[in-house]
Amino acid sequence: MKRVAIIGGGIVGQFIAYYLSKYDYEITLIDDGPSMLPASAGNCGLITPSHIEPLNSFATLIQGLKWLGKRDAPLAIKPQLDPAFIKWFLSFIWNSRKSSVKKARNIRHQLLQTSWNLYSEYFSEENSKCGFQSKGLIYASTTASGNESLKREVDLLRSHDLSCELLTKESLLNLEPCLKTDVVGGSILHVDGWLRPDRLLTEIRSINAANGVKEIAGKVEDFIISKGNIEAAQIGKEELRANHFILAAGALSYQLGKKLDISLPMIPGKGYNLTFSSKLKDQPNYPIYMFEKKVVATPWEDGFRLGSTMEFTGFDLTLNPSRLEALRKASKDYLKTDIDQEDPVPWAGWRPMTSNSLPIIKQSEKHQNLFIATGHGMLGLSMAPATGQLVSSLVNKQYID
Ligand SMILES: Cc1cc2nc3c(=O)[nH]c(=O)nc-3n(C[C@H](O)[C@H](O)[C@H](O)COP(=O)(O)OP(=O)(O)OC[C@H]3O[C@@H](n4cnc5c(N)ncnc54)[C@H](O)[C@@H]3O)c2cc1C
Repeated sequence: MKRVAIIGGGIVGQFIAYYLSKYDYEITLIDDGPSMLPASAGNCGLITPSHIEPLNSFATLIQGLKWLGKRDAPLAIKPQLDPAFIKWFLSFIWNSRKSSVKKARNIRHQLLQTSWNLYSEYFSEENSKCGFQSKGLIYASTTASGNESLKREVDLLRSHDLSCELLTKESLLNLEPCLKTDVVGGSILHVDGWLRPDRLLTEIRSINAANGVKEIAGKVEDFIISKGNIEAAQIGKEELRANHFILAAGALSYQLGKKLDISLPMIPGKGYNLTFSSKLKDQPNYPIYMFEKKVVATPWEDGFRLGSTMEFTGFDLTLNPSRLEALRKASKDYLKTDIDQEDPVPWAGWRPMTSNSLPIIKQSEKHQNLFIATGHGMLGLSMAPATGQLVSSLVNKQYID
């Protein structure tokens, strides 16, 4: 039986294992958790077919410059002399051209929609208990200019047949009474849903284990390479040999890529959350995206999370108190929910951000037995099933050929 080693047990690695385990492979998944809770568990839990628009745009760049030095801004860029960061930043600008944005939008649309369909199959086939709800996602705005942006977004989504609706202040407050009355309007994206990401990760891990996927707790530190092929991954003093290797280590794929002499066009985009371990009084019925503050509130049956911010500050997971306070403040500005009723657990994790807002899903040109599945940025949860299916078909195709 052919052996496949997957490096990274986040949601992307798990969905790759899930689809590959339907074929005849001996699969080993290597992950150095749970010492560091991955982004796959700490994210906002949104499954968003609506997020077709890439981050690349000159407007984002201008906004980013305006926010430079503001300690509680939703986007923070630490100017760095690191050549990898400079290269990424220049490539981000290049990919903000109209033609690149249009191409990225179409690919994102396909990946997101395929994933949504695959999630539906997964939820019913596996009798999933990860709290999935498909009522939609609400955007709330407190400014006239914010409301104008929402109008433009609704037009764009409709032109891609994505069901959504602009909401007047009154209809917004009717739909979500926990919003404060100073909102001026909003929108509802009917095509989106949400779940508990930590539960999904635990669930799919145990499904994979039951399907024969072996998991090794350890850190891949290096590789043994011979004649352009990877022979083994080194985990401490151990060597794990396999016919095929899949690199799915989230933001840290960049560092493993360097060991393989591959330069992946990605940097870590740090995000934060505050997680409440029980349902709060007056918490929203829908997930709410607080438009001006770029903060998401995600309500669960037995919990609540506030999450957001994008910090380009390198591989650093320090919890910055100003950013955590910005989450609290946004919630207090938009929601009636009393978030002081419980002490939340703070968290920070890395999004694997590529310079063109597209994930890297491919067979490596450098090492024929290596497949890469990373760089999902702000959408790893939303794109994981399509990625898993695509990688499993890439690996299979090689054997069929
Ligand atoms: C605040 C925040 C909110 C977000 N909200 C959403 C959302 O609502 N919806 C959405 O779709 N996406 C969201 N995202 C993005 C999403 O979480 C990521 O895109 C996704 O988690 C990436 O998954 P992954 O499996 O590639 O990486 P990760 O989740 O980072 O997992 C990678 C795994 O690889 C392991 N690993 C790394 N290096 C090694 C090594 N050398 N050896 C062994 N193991 C290793 C790590 O320990 C980790 O377990 C959010 C992200 C953040 C930070």
